[in-house]
Amino acid sequence: MTVNSLNIEQGPIRPPSEANSLLLRLTRNCPWNRCLFCPVYKAEKYSRRSLDDIRNDIESIAGAVDKIKEISQAKGFGGVINRQAAALVQSEYPELFPVAFWQFHGGKTAFLQDGDSLHLPVSQLVEVLGLLKEKLPSIQRITTYARSRTLLRWTVEELVLLRKTGLNRIHVGLESGNDQVLEFMQKGVTGVQHVEAGQKVKAAGISLSEYVILGLGGTKLWREHALDTAKILNEINPDFIRVRTLAVPPETPLFKKVQQGEFKLLHDDDVVREEALFVEHLEGIESVFYSDHILNLLEEVYGNLPEDKPVMQKTINSYLLLTASDRERFRLGRRTGYYRNLADRHDESLELAVERIYQQLQIEGITVDDYILQLMRRFI
Ligand code: SF4
Repeated sequence: MTVNSLNIEQGPIRPPSEANSLLLRLTRNCPWNRCLFCPVYKAEKYSRRSLDDIRNDIESIAGAVDKIKEISQAKGFGGVINRQAAALVQSEYPELFPVAFWQFHGGKTAFLQDGDSLHLPVSQLVEVLGLLKEKLPSIQRITTYARSRTLLRWTVEELVLLRKTGLNRIHVGLESGNDQVLEFMQKGVTGVQHVEAGQKVKAAGISLSEYVILGLGGTKLWREHALDTAKILNEINPDFIRVRTLAVPPETPLFKKVQQGEFKLLHDDDVVREEALFVEHLEGIESVFYSDHILNLLEEVYGNLPEDKPVMQKTINSYLLLTASDRERFRLGRRTGYYRNLADRHDESLELAVERIYQQLQIEGITVDDYILQLMRRFI
């Protein structure tokens, strides 16, 4: 559990798109906690935070907002939290900085933690959403994670009530649309249930973001994973599709299965082939596709579906058409942080830096694949 200097409790993760959001913890950890690939809460027990504790956090944040505004006024920034005001708060009032950082980024978004906030009773969620809106009126968007299985317990009417009270978006870990993959990974949900849950969120008018794990079918089920995940998403038509690539750190149950040969990881190049098949079969939907995760090899595959699909496919193909040696060097550059996009390969200084690492690995007898595998485990 992380408690910051304002005594506000925070959980360990939030979606990449919520990097600048206020984090408000409603529950601790995940009530399911069985997914083989997920390292986040494995050593932790699920619990609900009391309404009093959550209220105290909201009031502490509201108090900090007032204090920061006073500081900004007193220091000649007119109550505005611009870059200079935020920097001043950081150096002179570090305990207030997390709130100043949020205000500097607009103070308009909040994310409810941890892994499955809709596990809470509707009455408590409504109360928390109302409090957030009342005490922090700058907030315009409130989002959270929810499991599809949990969403199935909610009626559309209850979800509408959440929307009307302020919940704008739900992030769901779809991971795969293939039942064999979902069962092996102990996701606790089927493809059909994912569809039912997703359609419910959409029917309630709440924005829906579905997360897919590239590579989750392994060498055995990569094709089924790609095709069924596209099929399920086509039925849901979510507002956002976000991909991230499978990595298997030692603290996941999947790590043991990889070591015992029960699950074989896809090579990076095969993950991109799987992504090509997946994107090819996304049809009839109007979703924004993002690859905004450090684990993805091709972060630049993004766009609005359907109109940007040809560009996304062109990017994927331009990687697959590289020579084996160029693909290996690009992977090395991307995983070591020198390259972000394919075009970065043409930057001479970056290319030289990557070449140095490449040559050093050769000298030490370490393969690029082994080196990347180690790096990937640190990105979780
Ligand atoms: S439901 Fe989500 S948070 Fe819970 S174990 Fe699975 S992936 Fe992790």
